[in-house]
Amino acid sequence: MKEQYDVIIIGGGPAGLNAAMILGRSRRKVILFDSGKPRNRWSTSMNGFLSSDGVNPADFIRKGREELQKYGIQIVDHPVSTATYSKGIYVVDAGEGHVYHSRKLLLATGLKDTLPEVEGIEELYGKSVHHCPYCDGWESRDKAIAVYGKDRSGIGQALAMKSWSDDVTLYTDGTRKLNNKDMELLKLNGVKVCTEAIARVEGENGMLQQIVLRNGQSKPQGALFFSGETNQQSDIGKQLGCEFTGKGVIKTRRLQQANIPGLYVAGDAARDMQLVIVAAAEGAKAGVAINMELQQEDRVKL
Ligand SMILES: Cc1cc2nc3c(=O)[nH]c(=O)nc-3n(C[C@H](O)[C@H](O)[C@H](O)COP(=O)(O)OP(=O)(O)OC[C@H]3O[C@@H](n4cnc5c(N)ncnc54)[C@H](O)[C@@H]3O)c2cc1C
Repeated sequence: MKEQYDVIIIGGGPAGLNAAMILGRSRRKVILFDSGKPRNRWSTSMNGFLSSDGVNPADFIRKGREELQKYGIQIVDHPVSTATYSKGIYVVDAGEGHVYHSRKLLLATGLKDTLPEVEGIEELYGKSVHHCPYCDGWESRDKAIAVYGKDRSGIGQALAMKSWSDDVTLYTDGTRKLNNKDMELLKLNGVKVCTEAIARVEGENGMLQQIVLRNGQSKPQGALFFSGETNQQSDIGKQLGCEFTGKGVIKTRRLQQANIPGLYVAGDAARDMQLVIVAAAEGAKAGVAINMELQQEDRVKL
């Protein structure tokens, strides 16, 4: 079965949904595929989005989908496995013989996070274990904040967390990569350092209570922040030959254009700040740019 669309959107997080809204309102024939794994699904509150501050992320997506209904956007809850481009046409394979064609393609497939390898951390993730201070720093304000960083990347995060609490401890989990200058800088800024190996983290109802060290000691802590590795959630950008930055996100131009004609990338998968409101804004920008490109192509020339 083969169907032709103006635009195919892969990814139904804030970036994909906002792009769909702009394109639907521009009367474009759009289909959106989503595999149901938005990056913040571990969290119960989405913070820092004006008018939706503190909203449950799943409710936000549900409301977004409802709002799209009147614009005739087709939403398919299924992952896309492959996408190819040839001579102005994108071909998207959603499995089971379902193949879709479009003139433009938007990737809004997001990123996935790698958690530190510490026993007990997954149960606390999104509730009292976080990676982004702009998302969850306020809720952790004045708590005893632990920062997990096995290498030097923890230094910057530990120093940054001082904006949210006076009580910040950097845990290096048994590694000793900090030099004397680092130690001096941290001390000068009032950051405590614990280099002992961590046995596990313990908490109740998702809230961190203590970090248990391998030497048997327990350290009471109210929240933990880490700067972890992120990877693309989908390899479709790679399949299509997108250019990536050194940080593993897809290079885009001002209006979210990638290096392949008619291909746009919005949200966390693309370069820029990783926040819901930024992802939604990038989706809107891509939506406008895609519509303008289609208008140009369809306009009768003098
Ligand atoms: C624990 C946590 C808490 C966070 N809290 C906040 C917060 O409070 N405030 C804030 O502003 N930001 C927060 N963020 C960041 C926020 O989640 C991201 O910036 C935002 O989700 C990016 O939106 P997106 O649309 O680019 O990607 P996502 O929301 O990750 O959506 C991508 C979608 O694409 C789908 N997808 C991927 N591959 C395919 C495929 N091949 N086929 C079909 N569908 C596919 C996925 O299933 C997913 O639904 C948090 C992140 C985490 C990890």
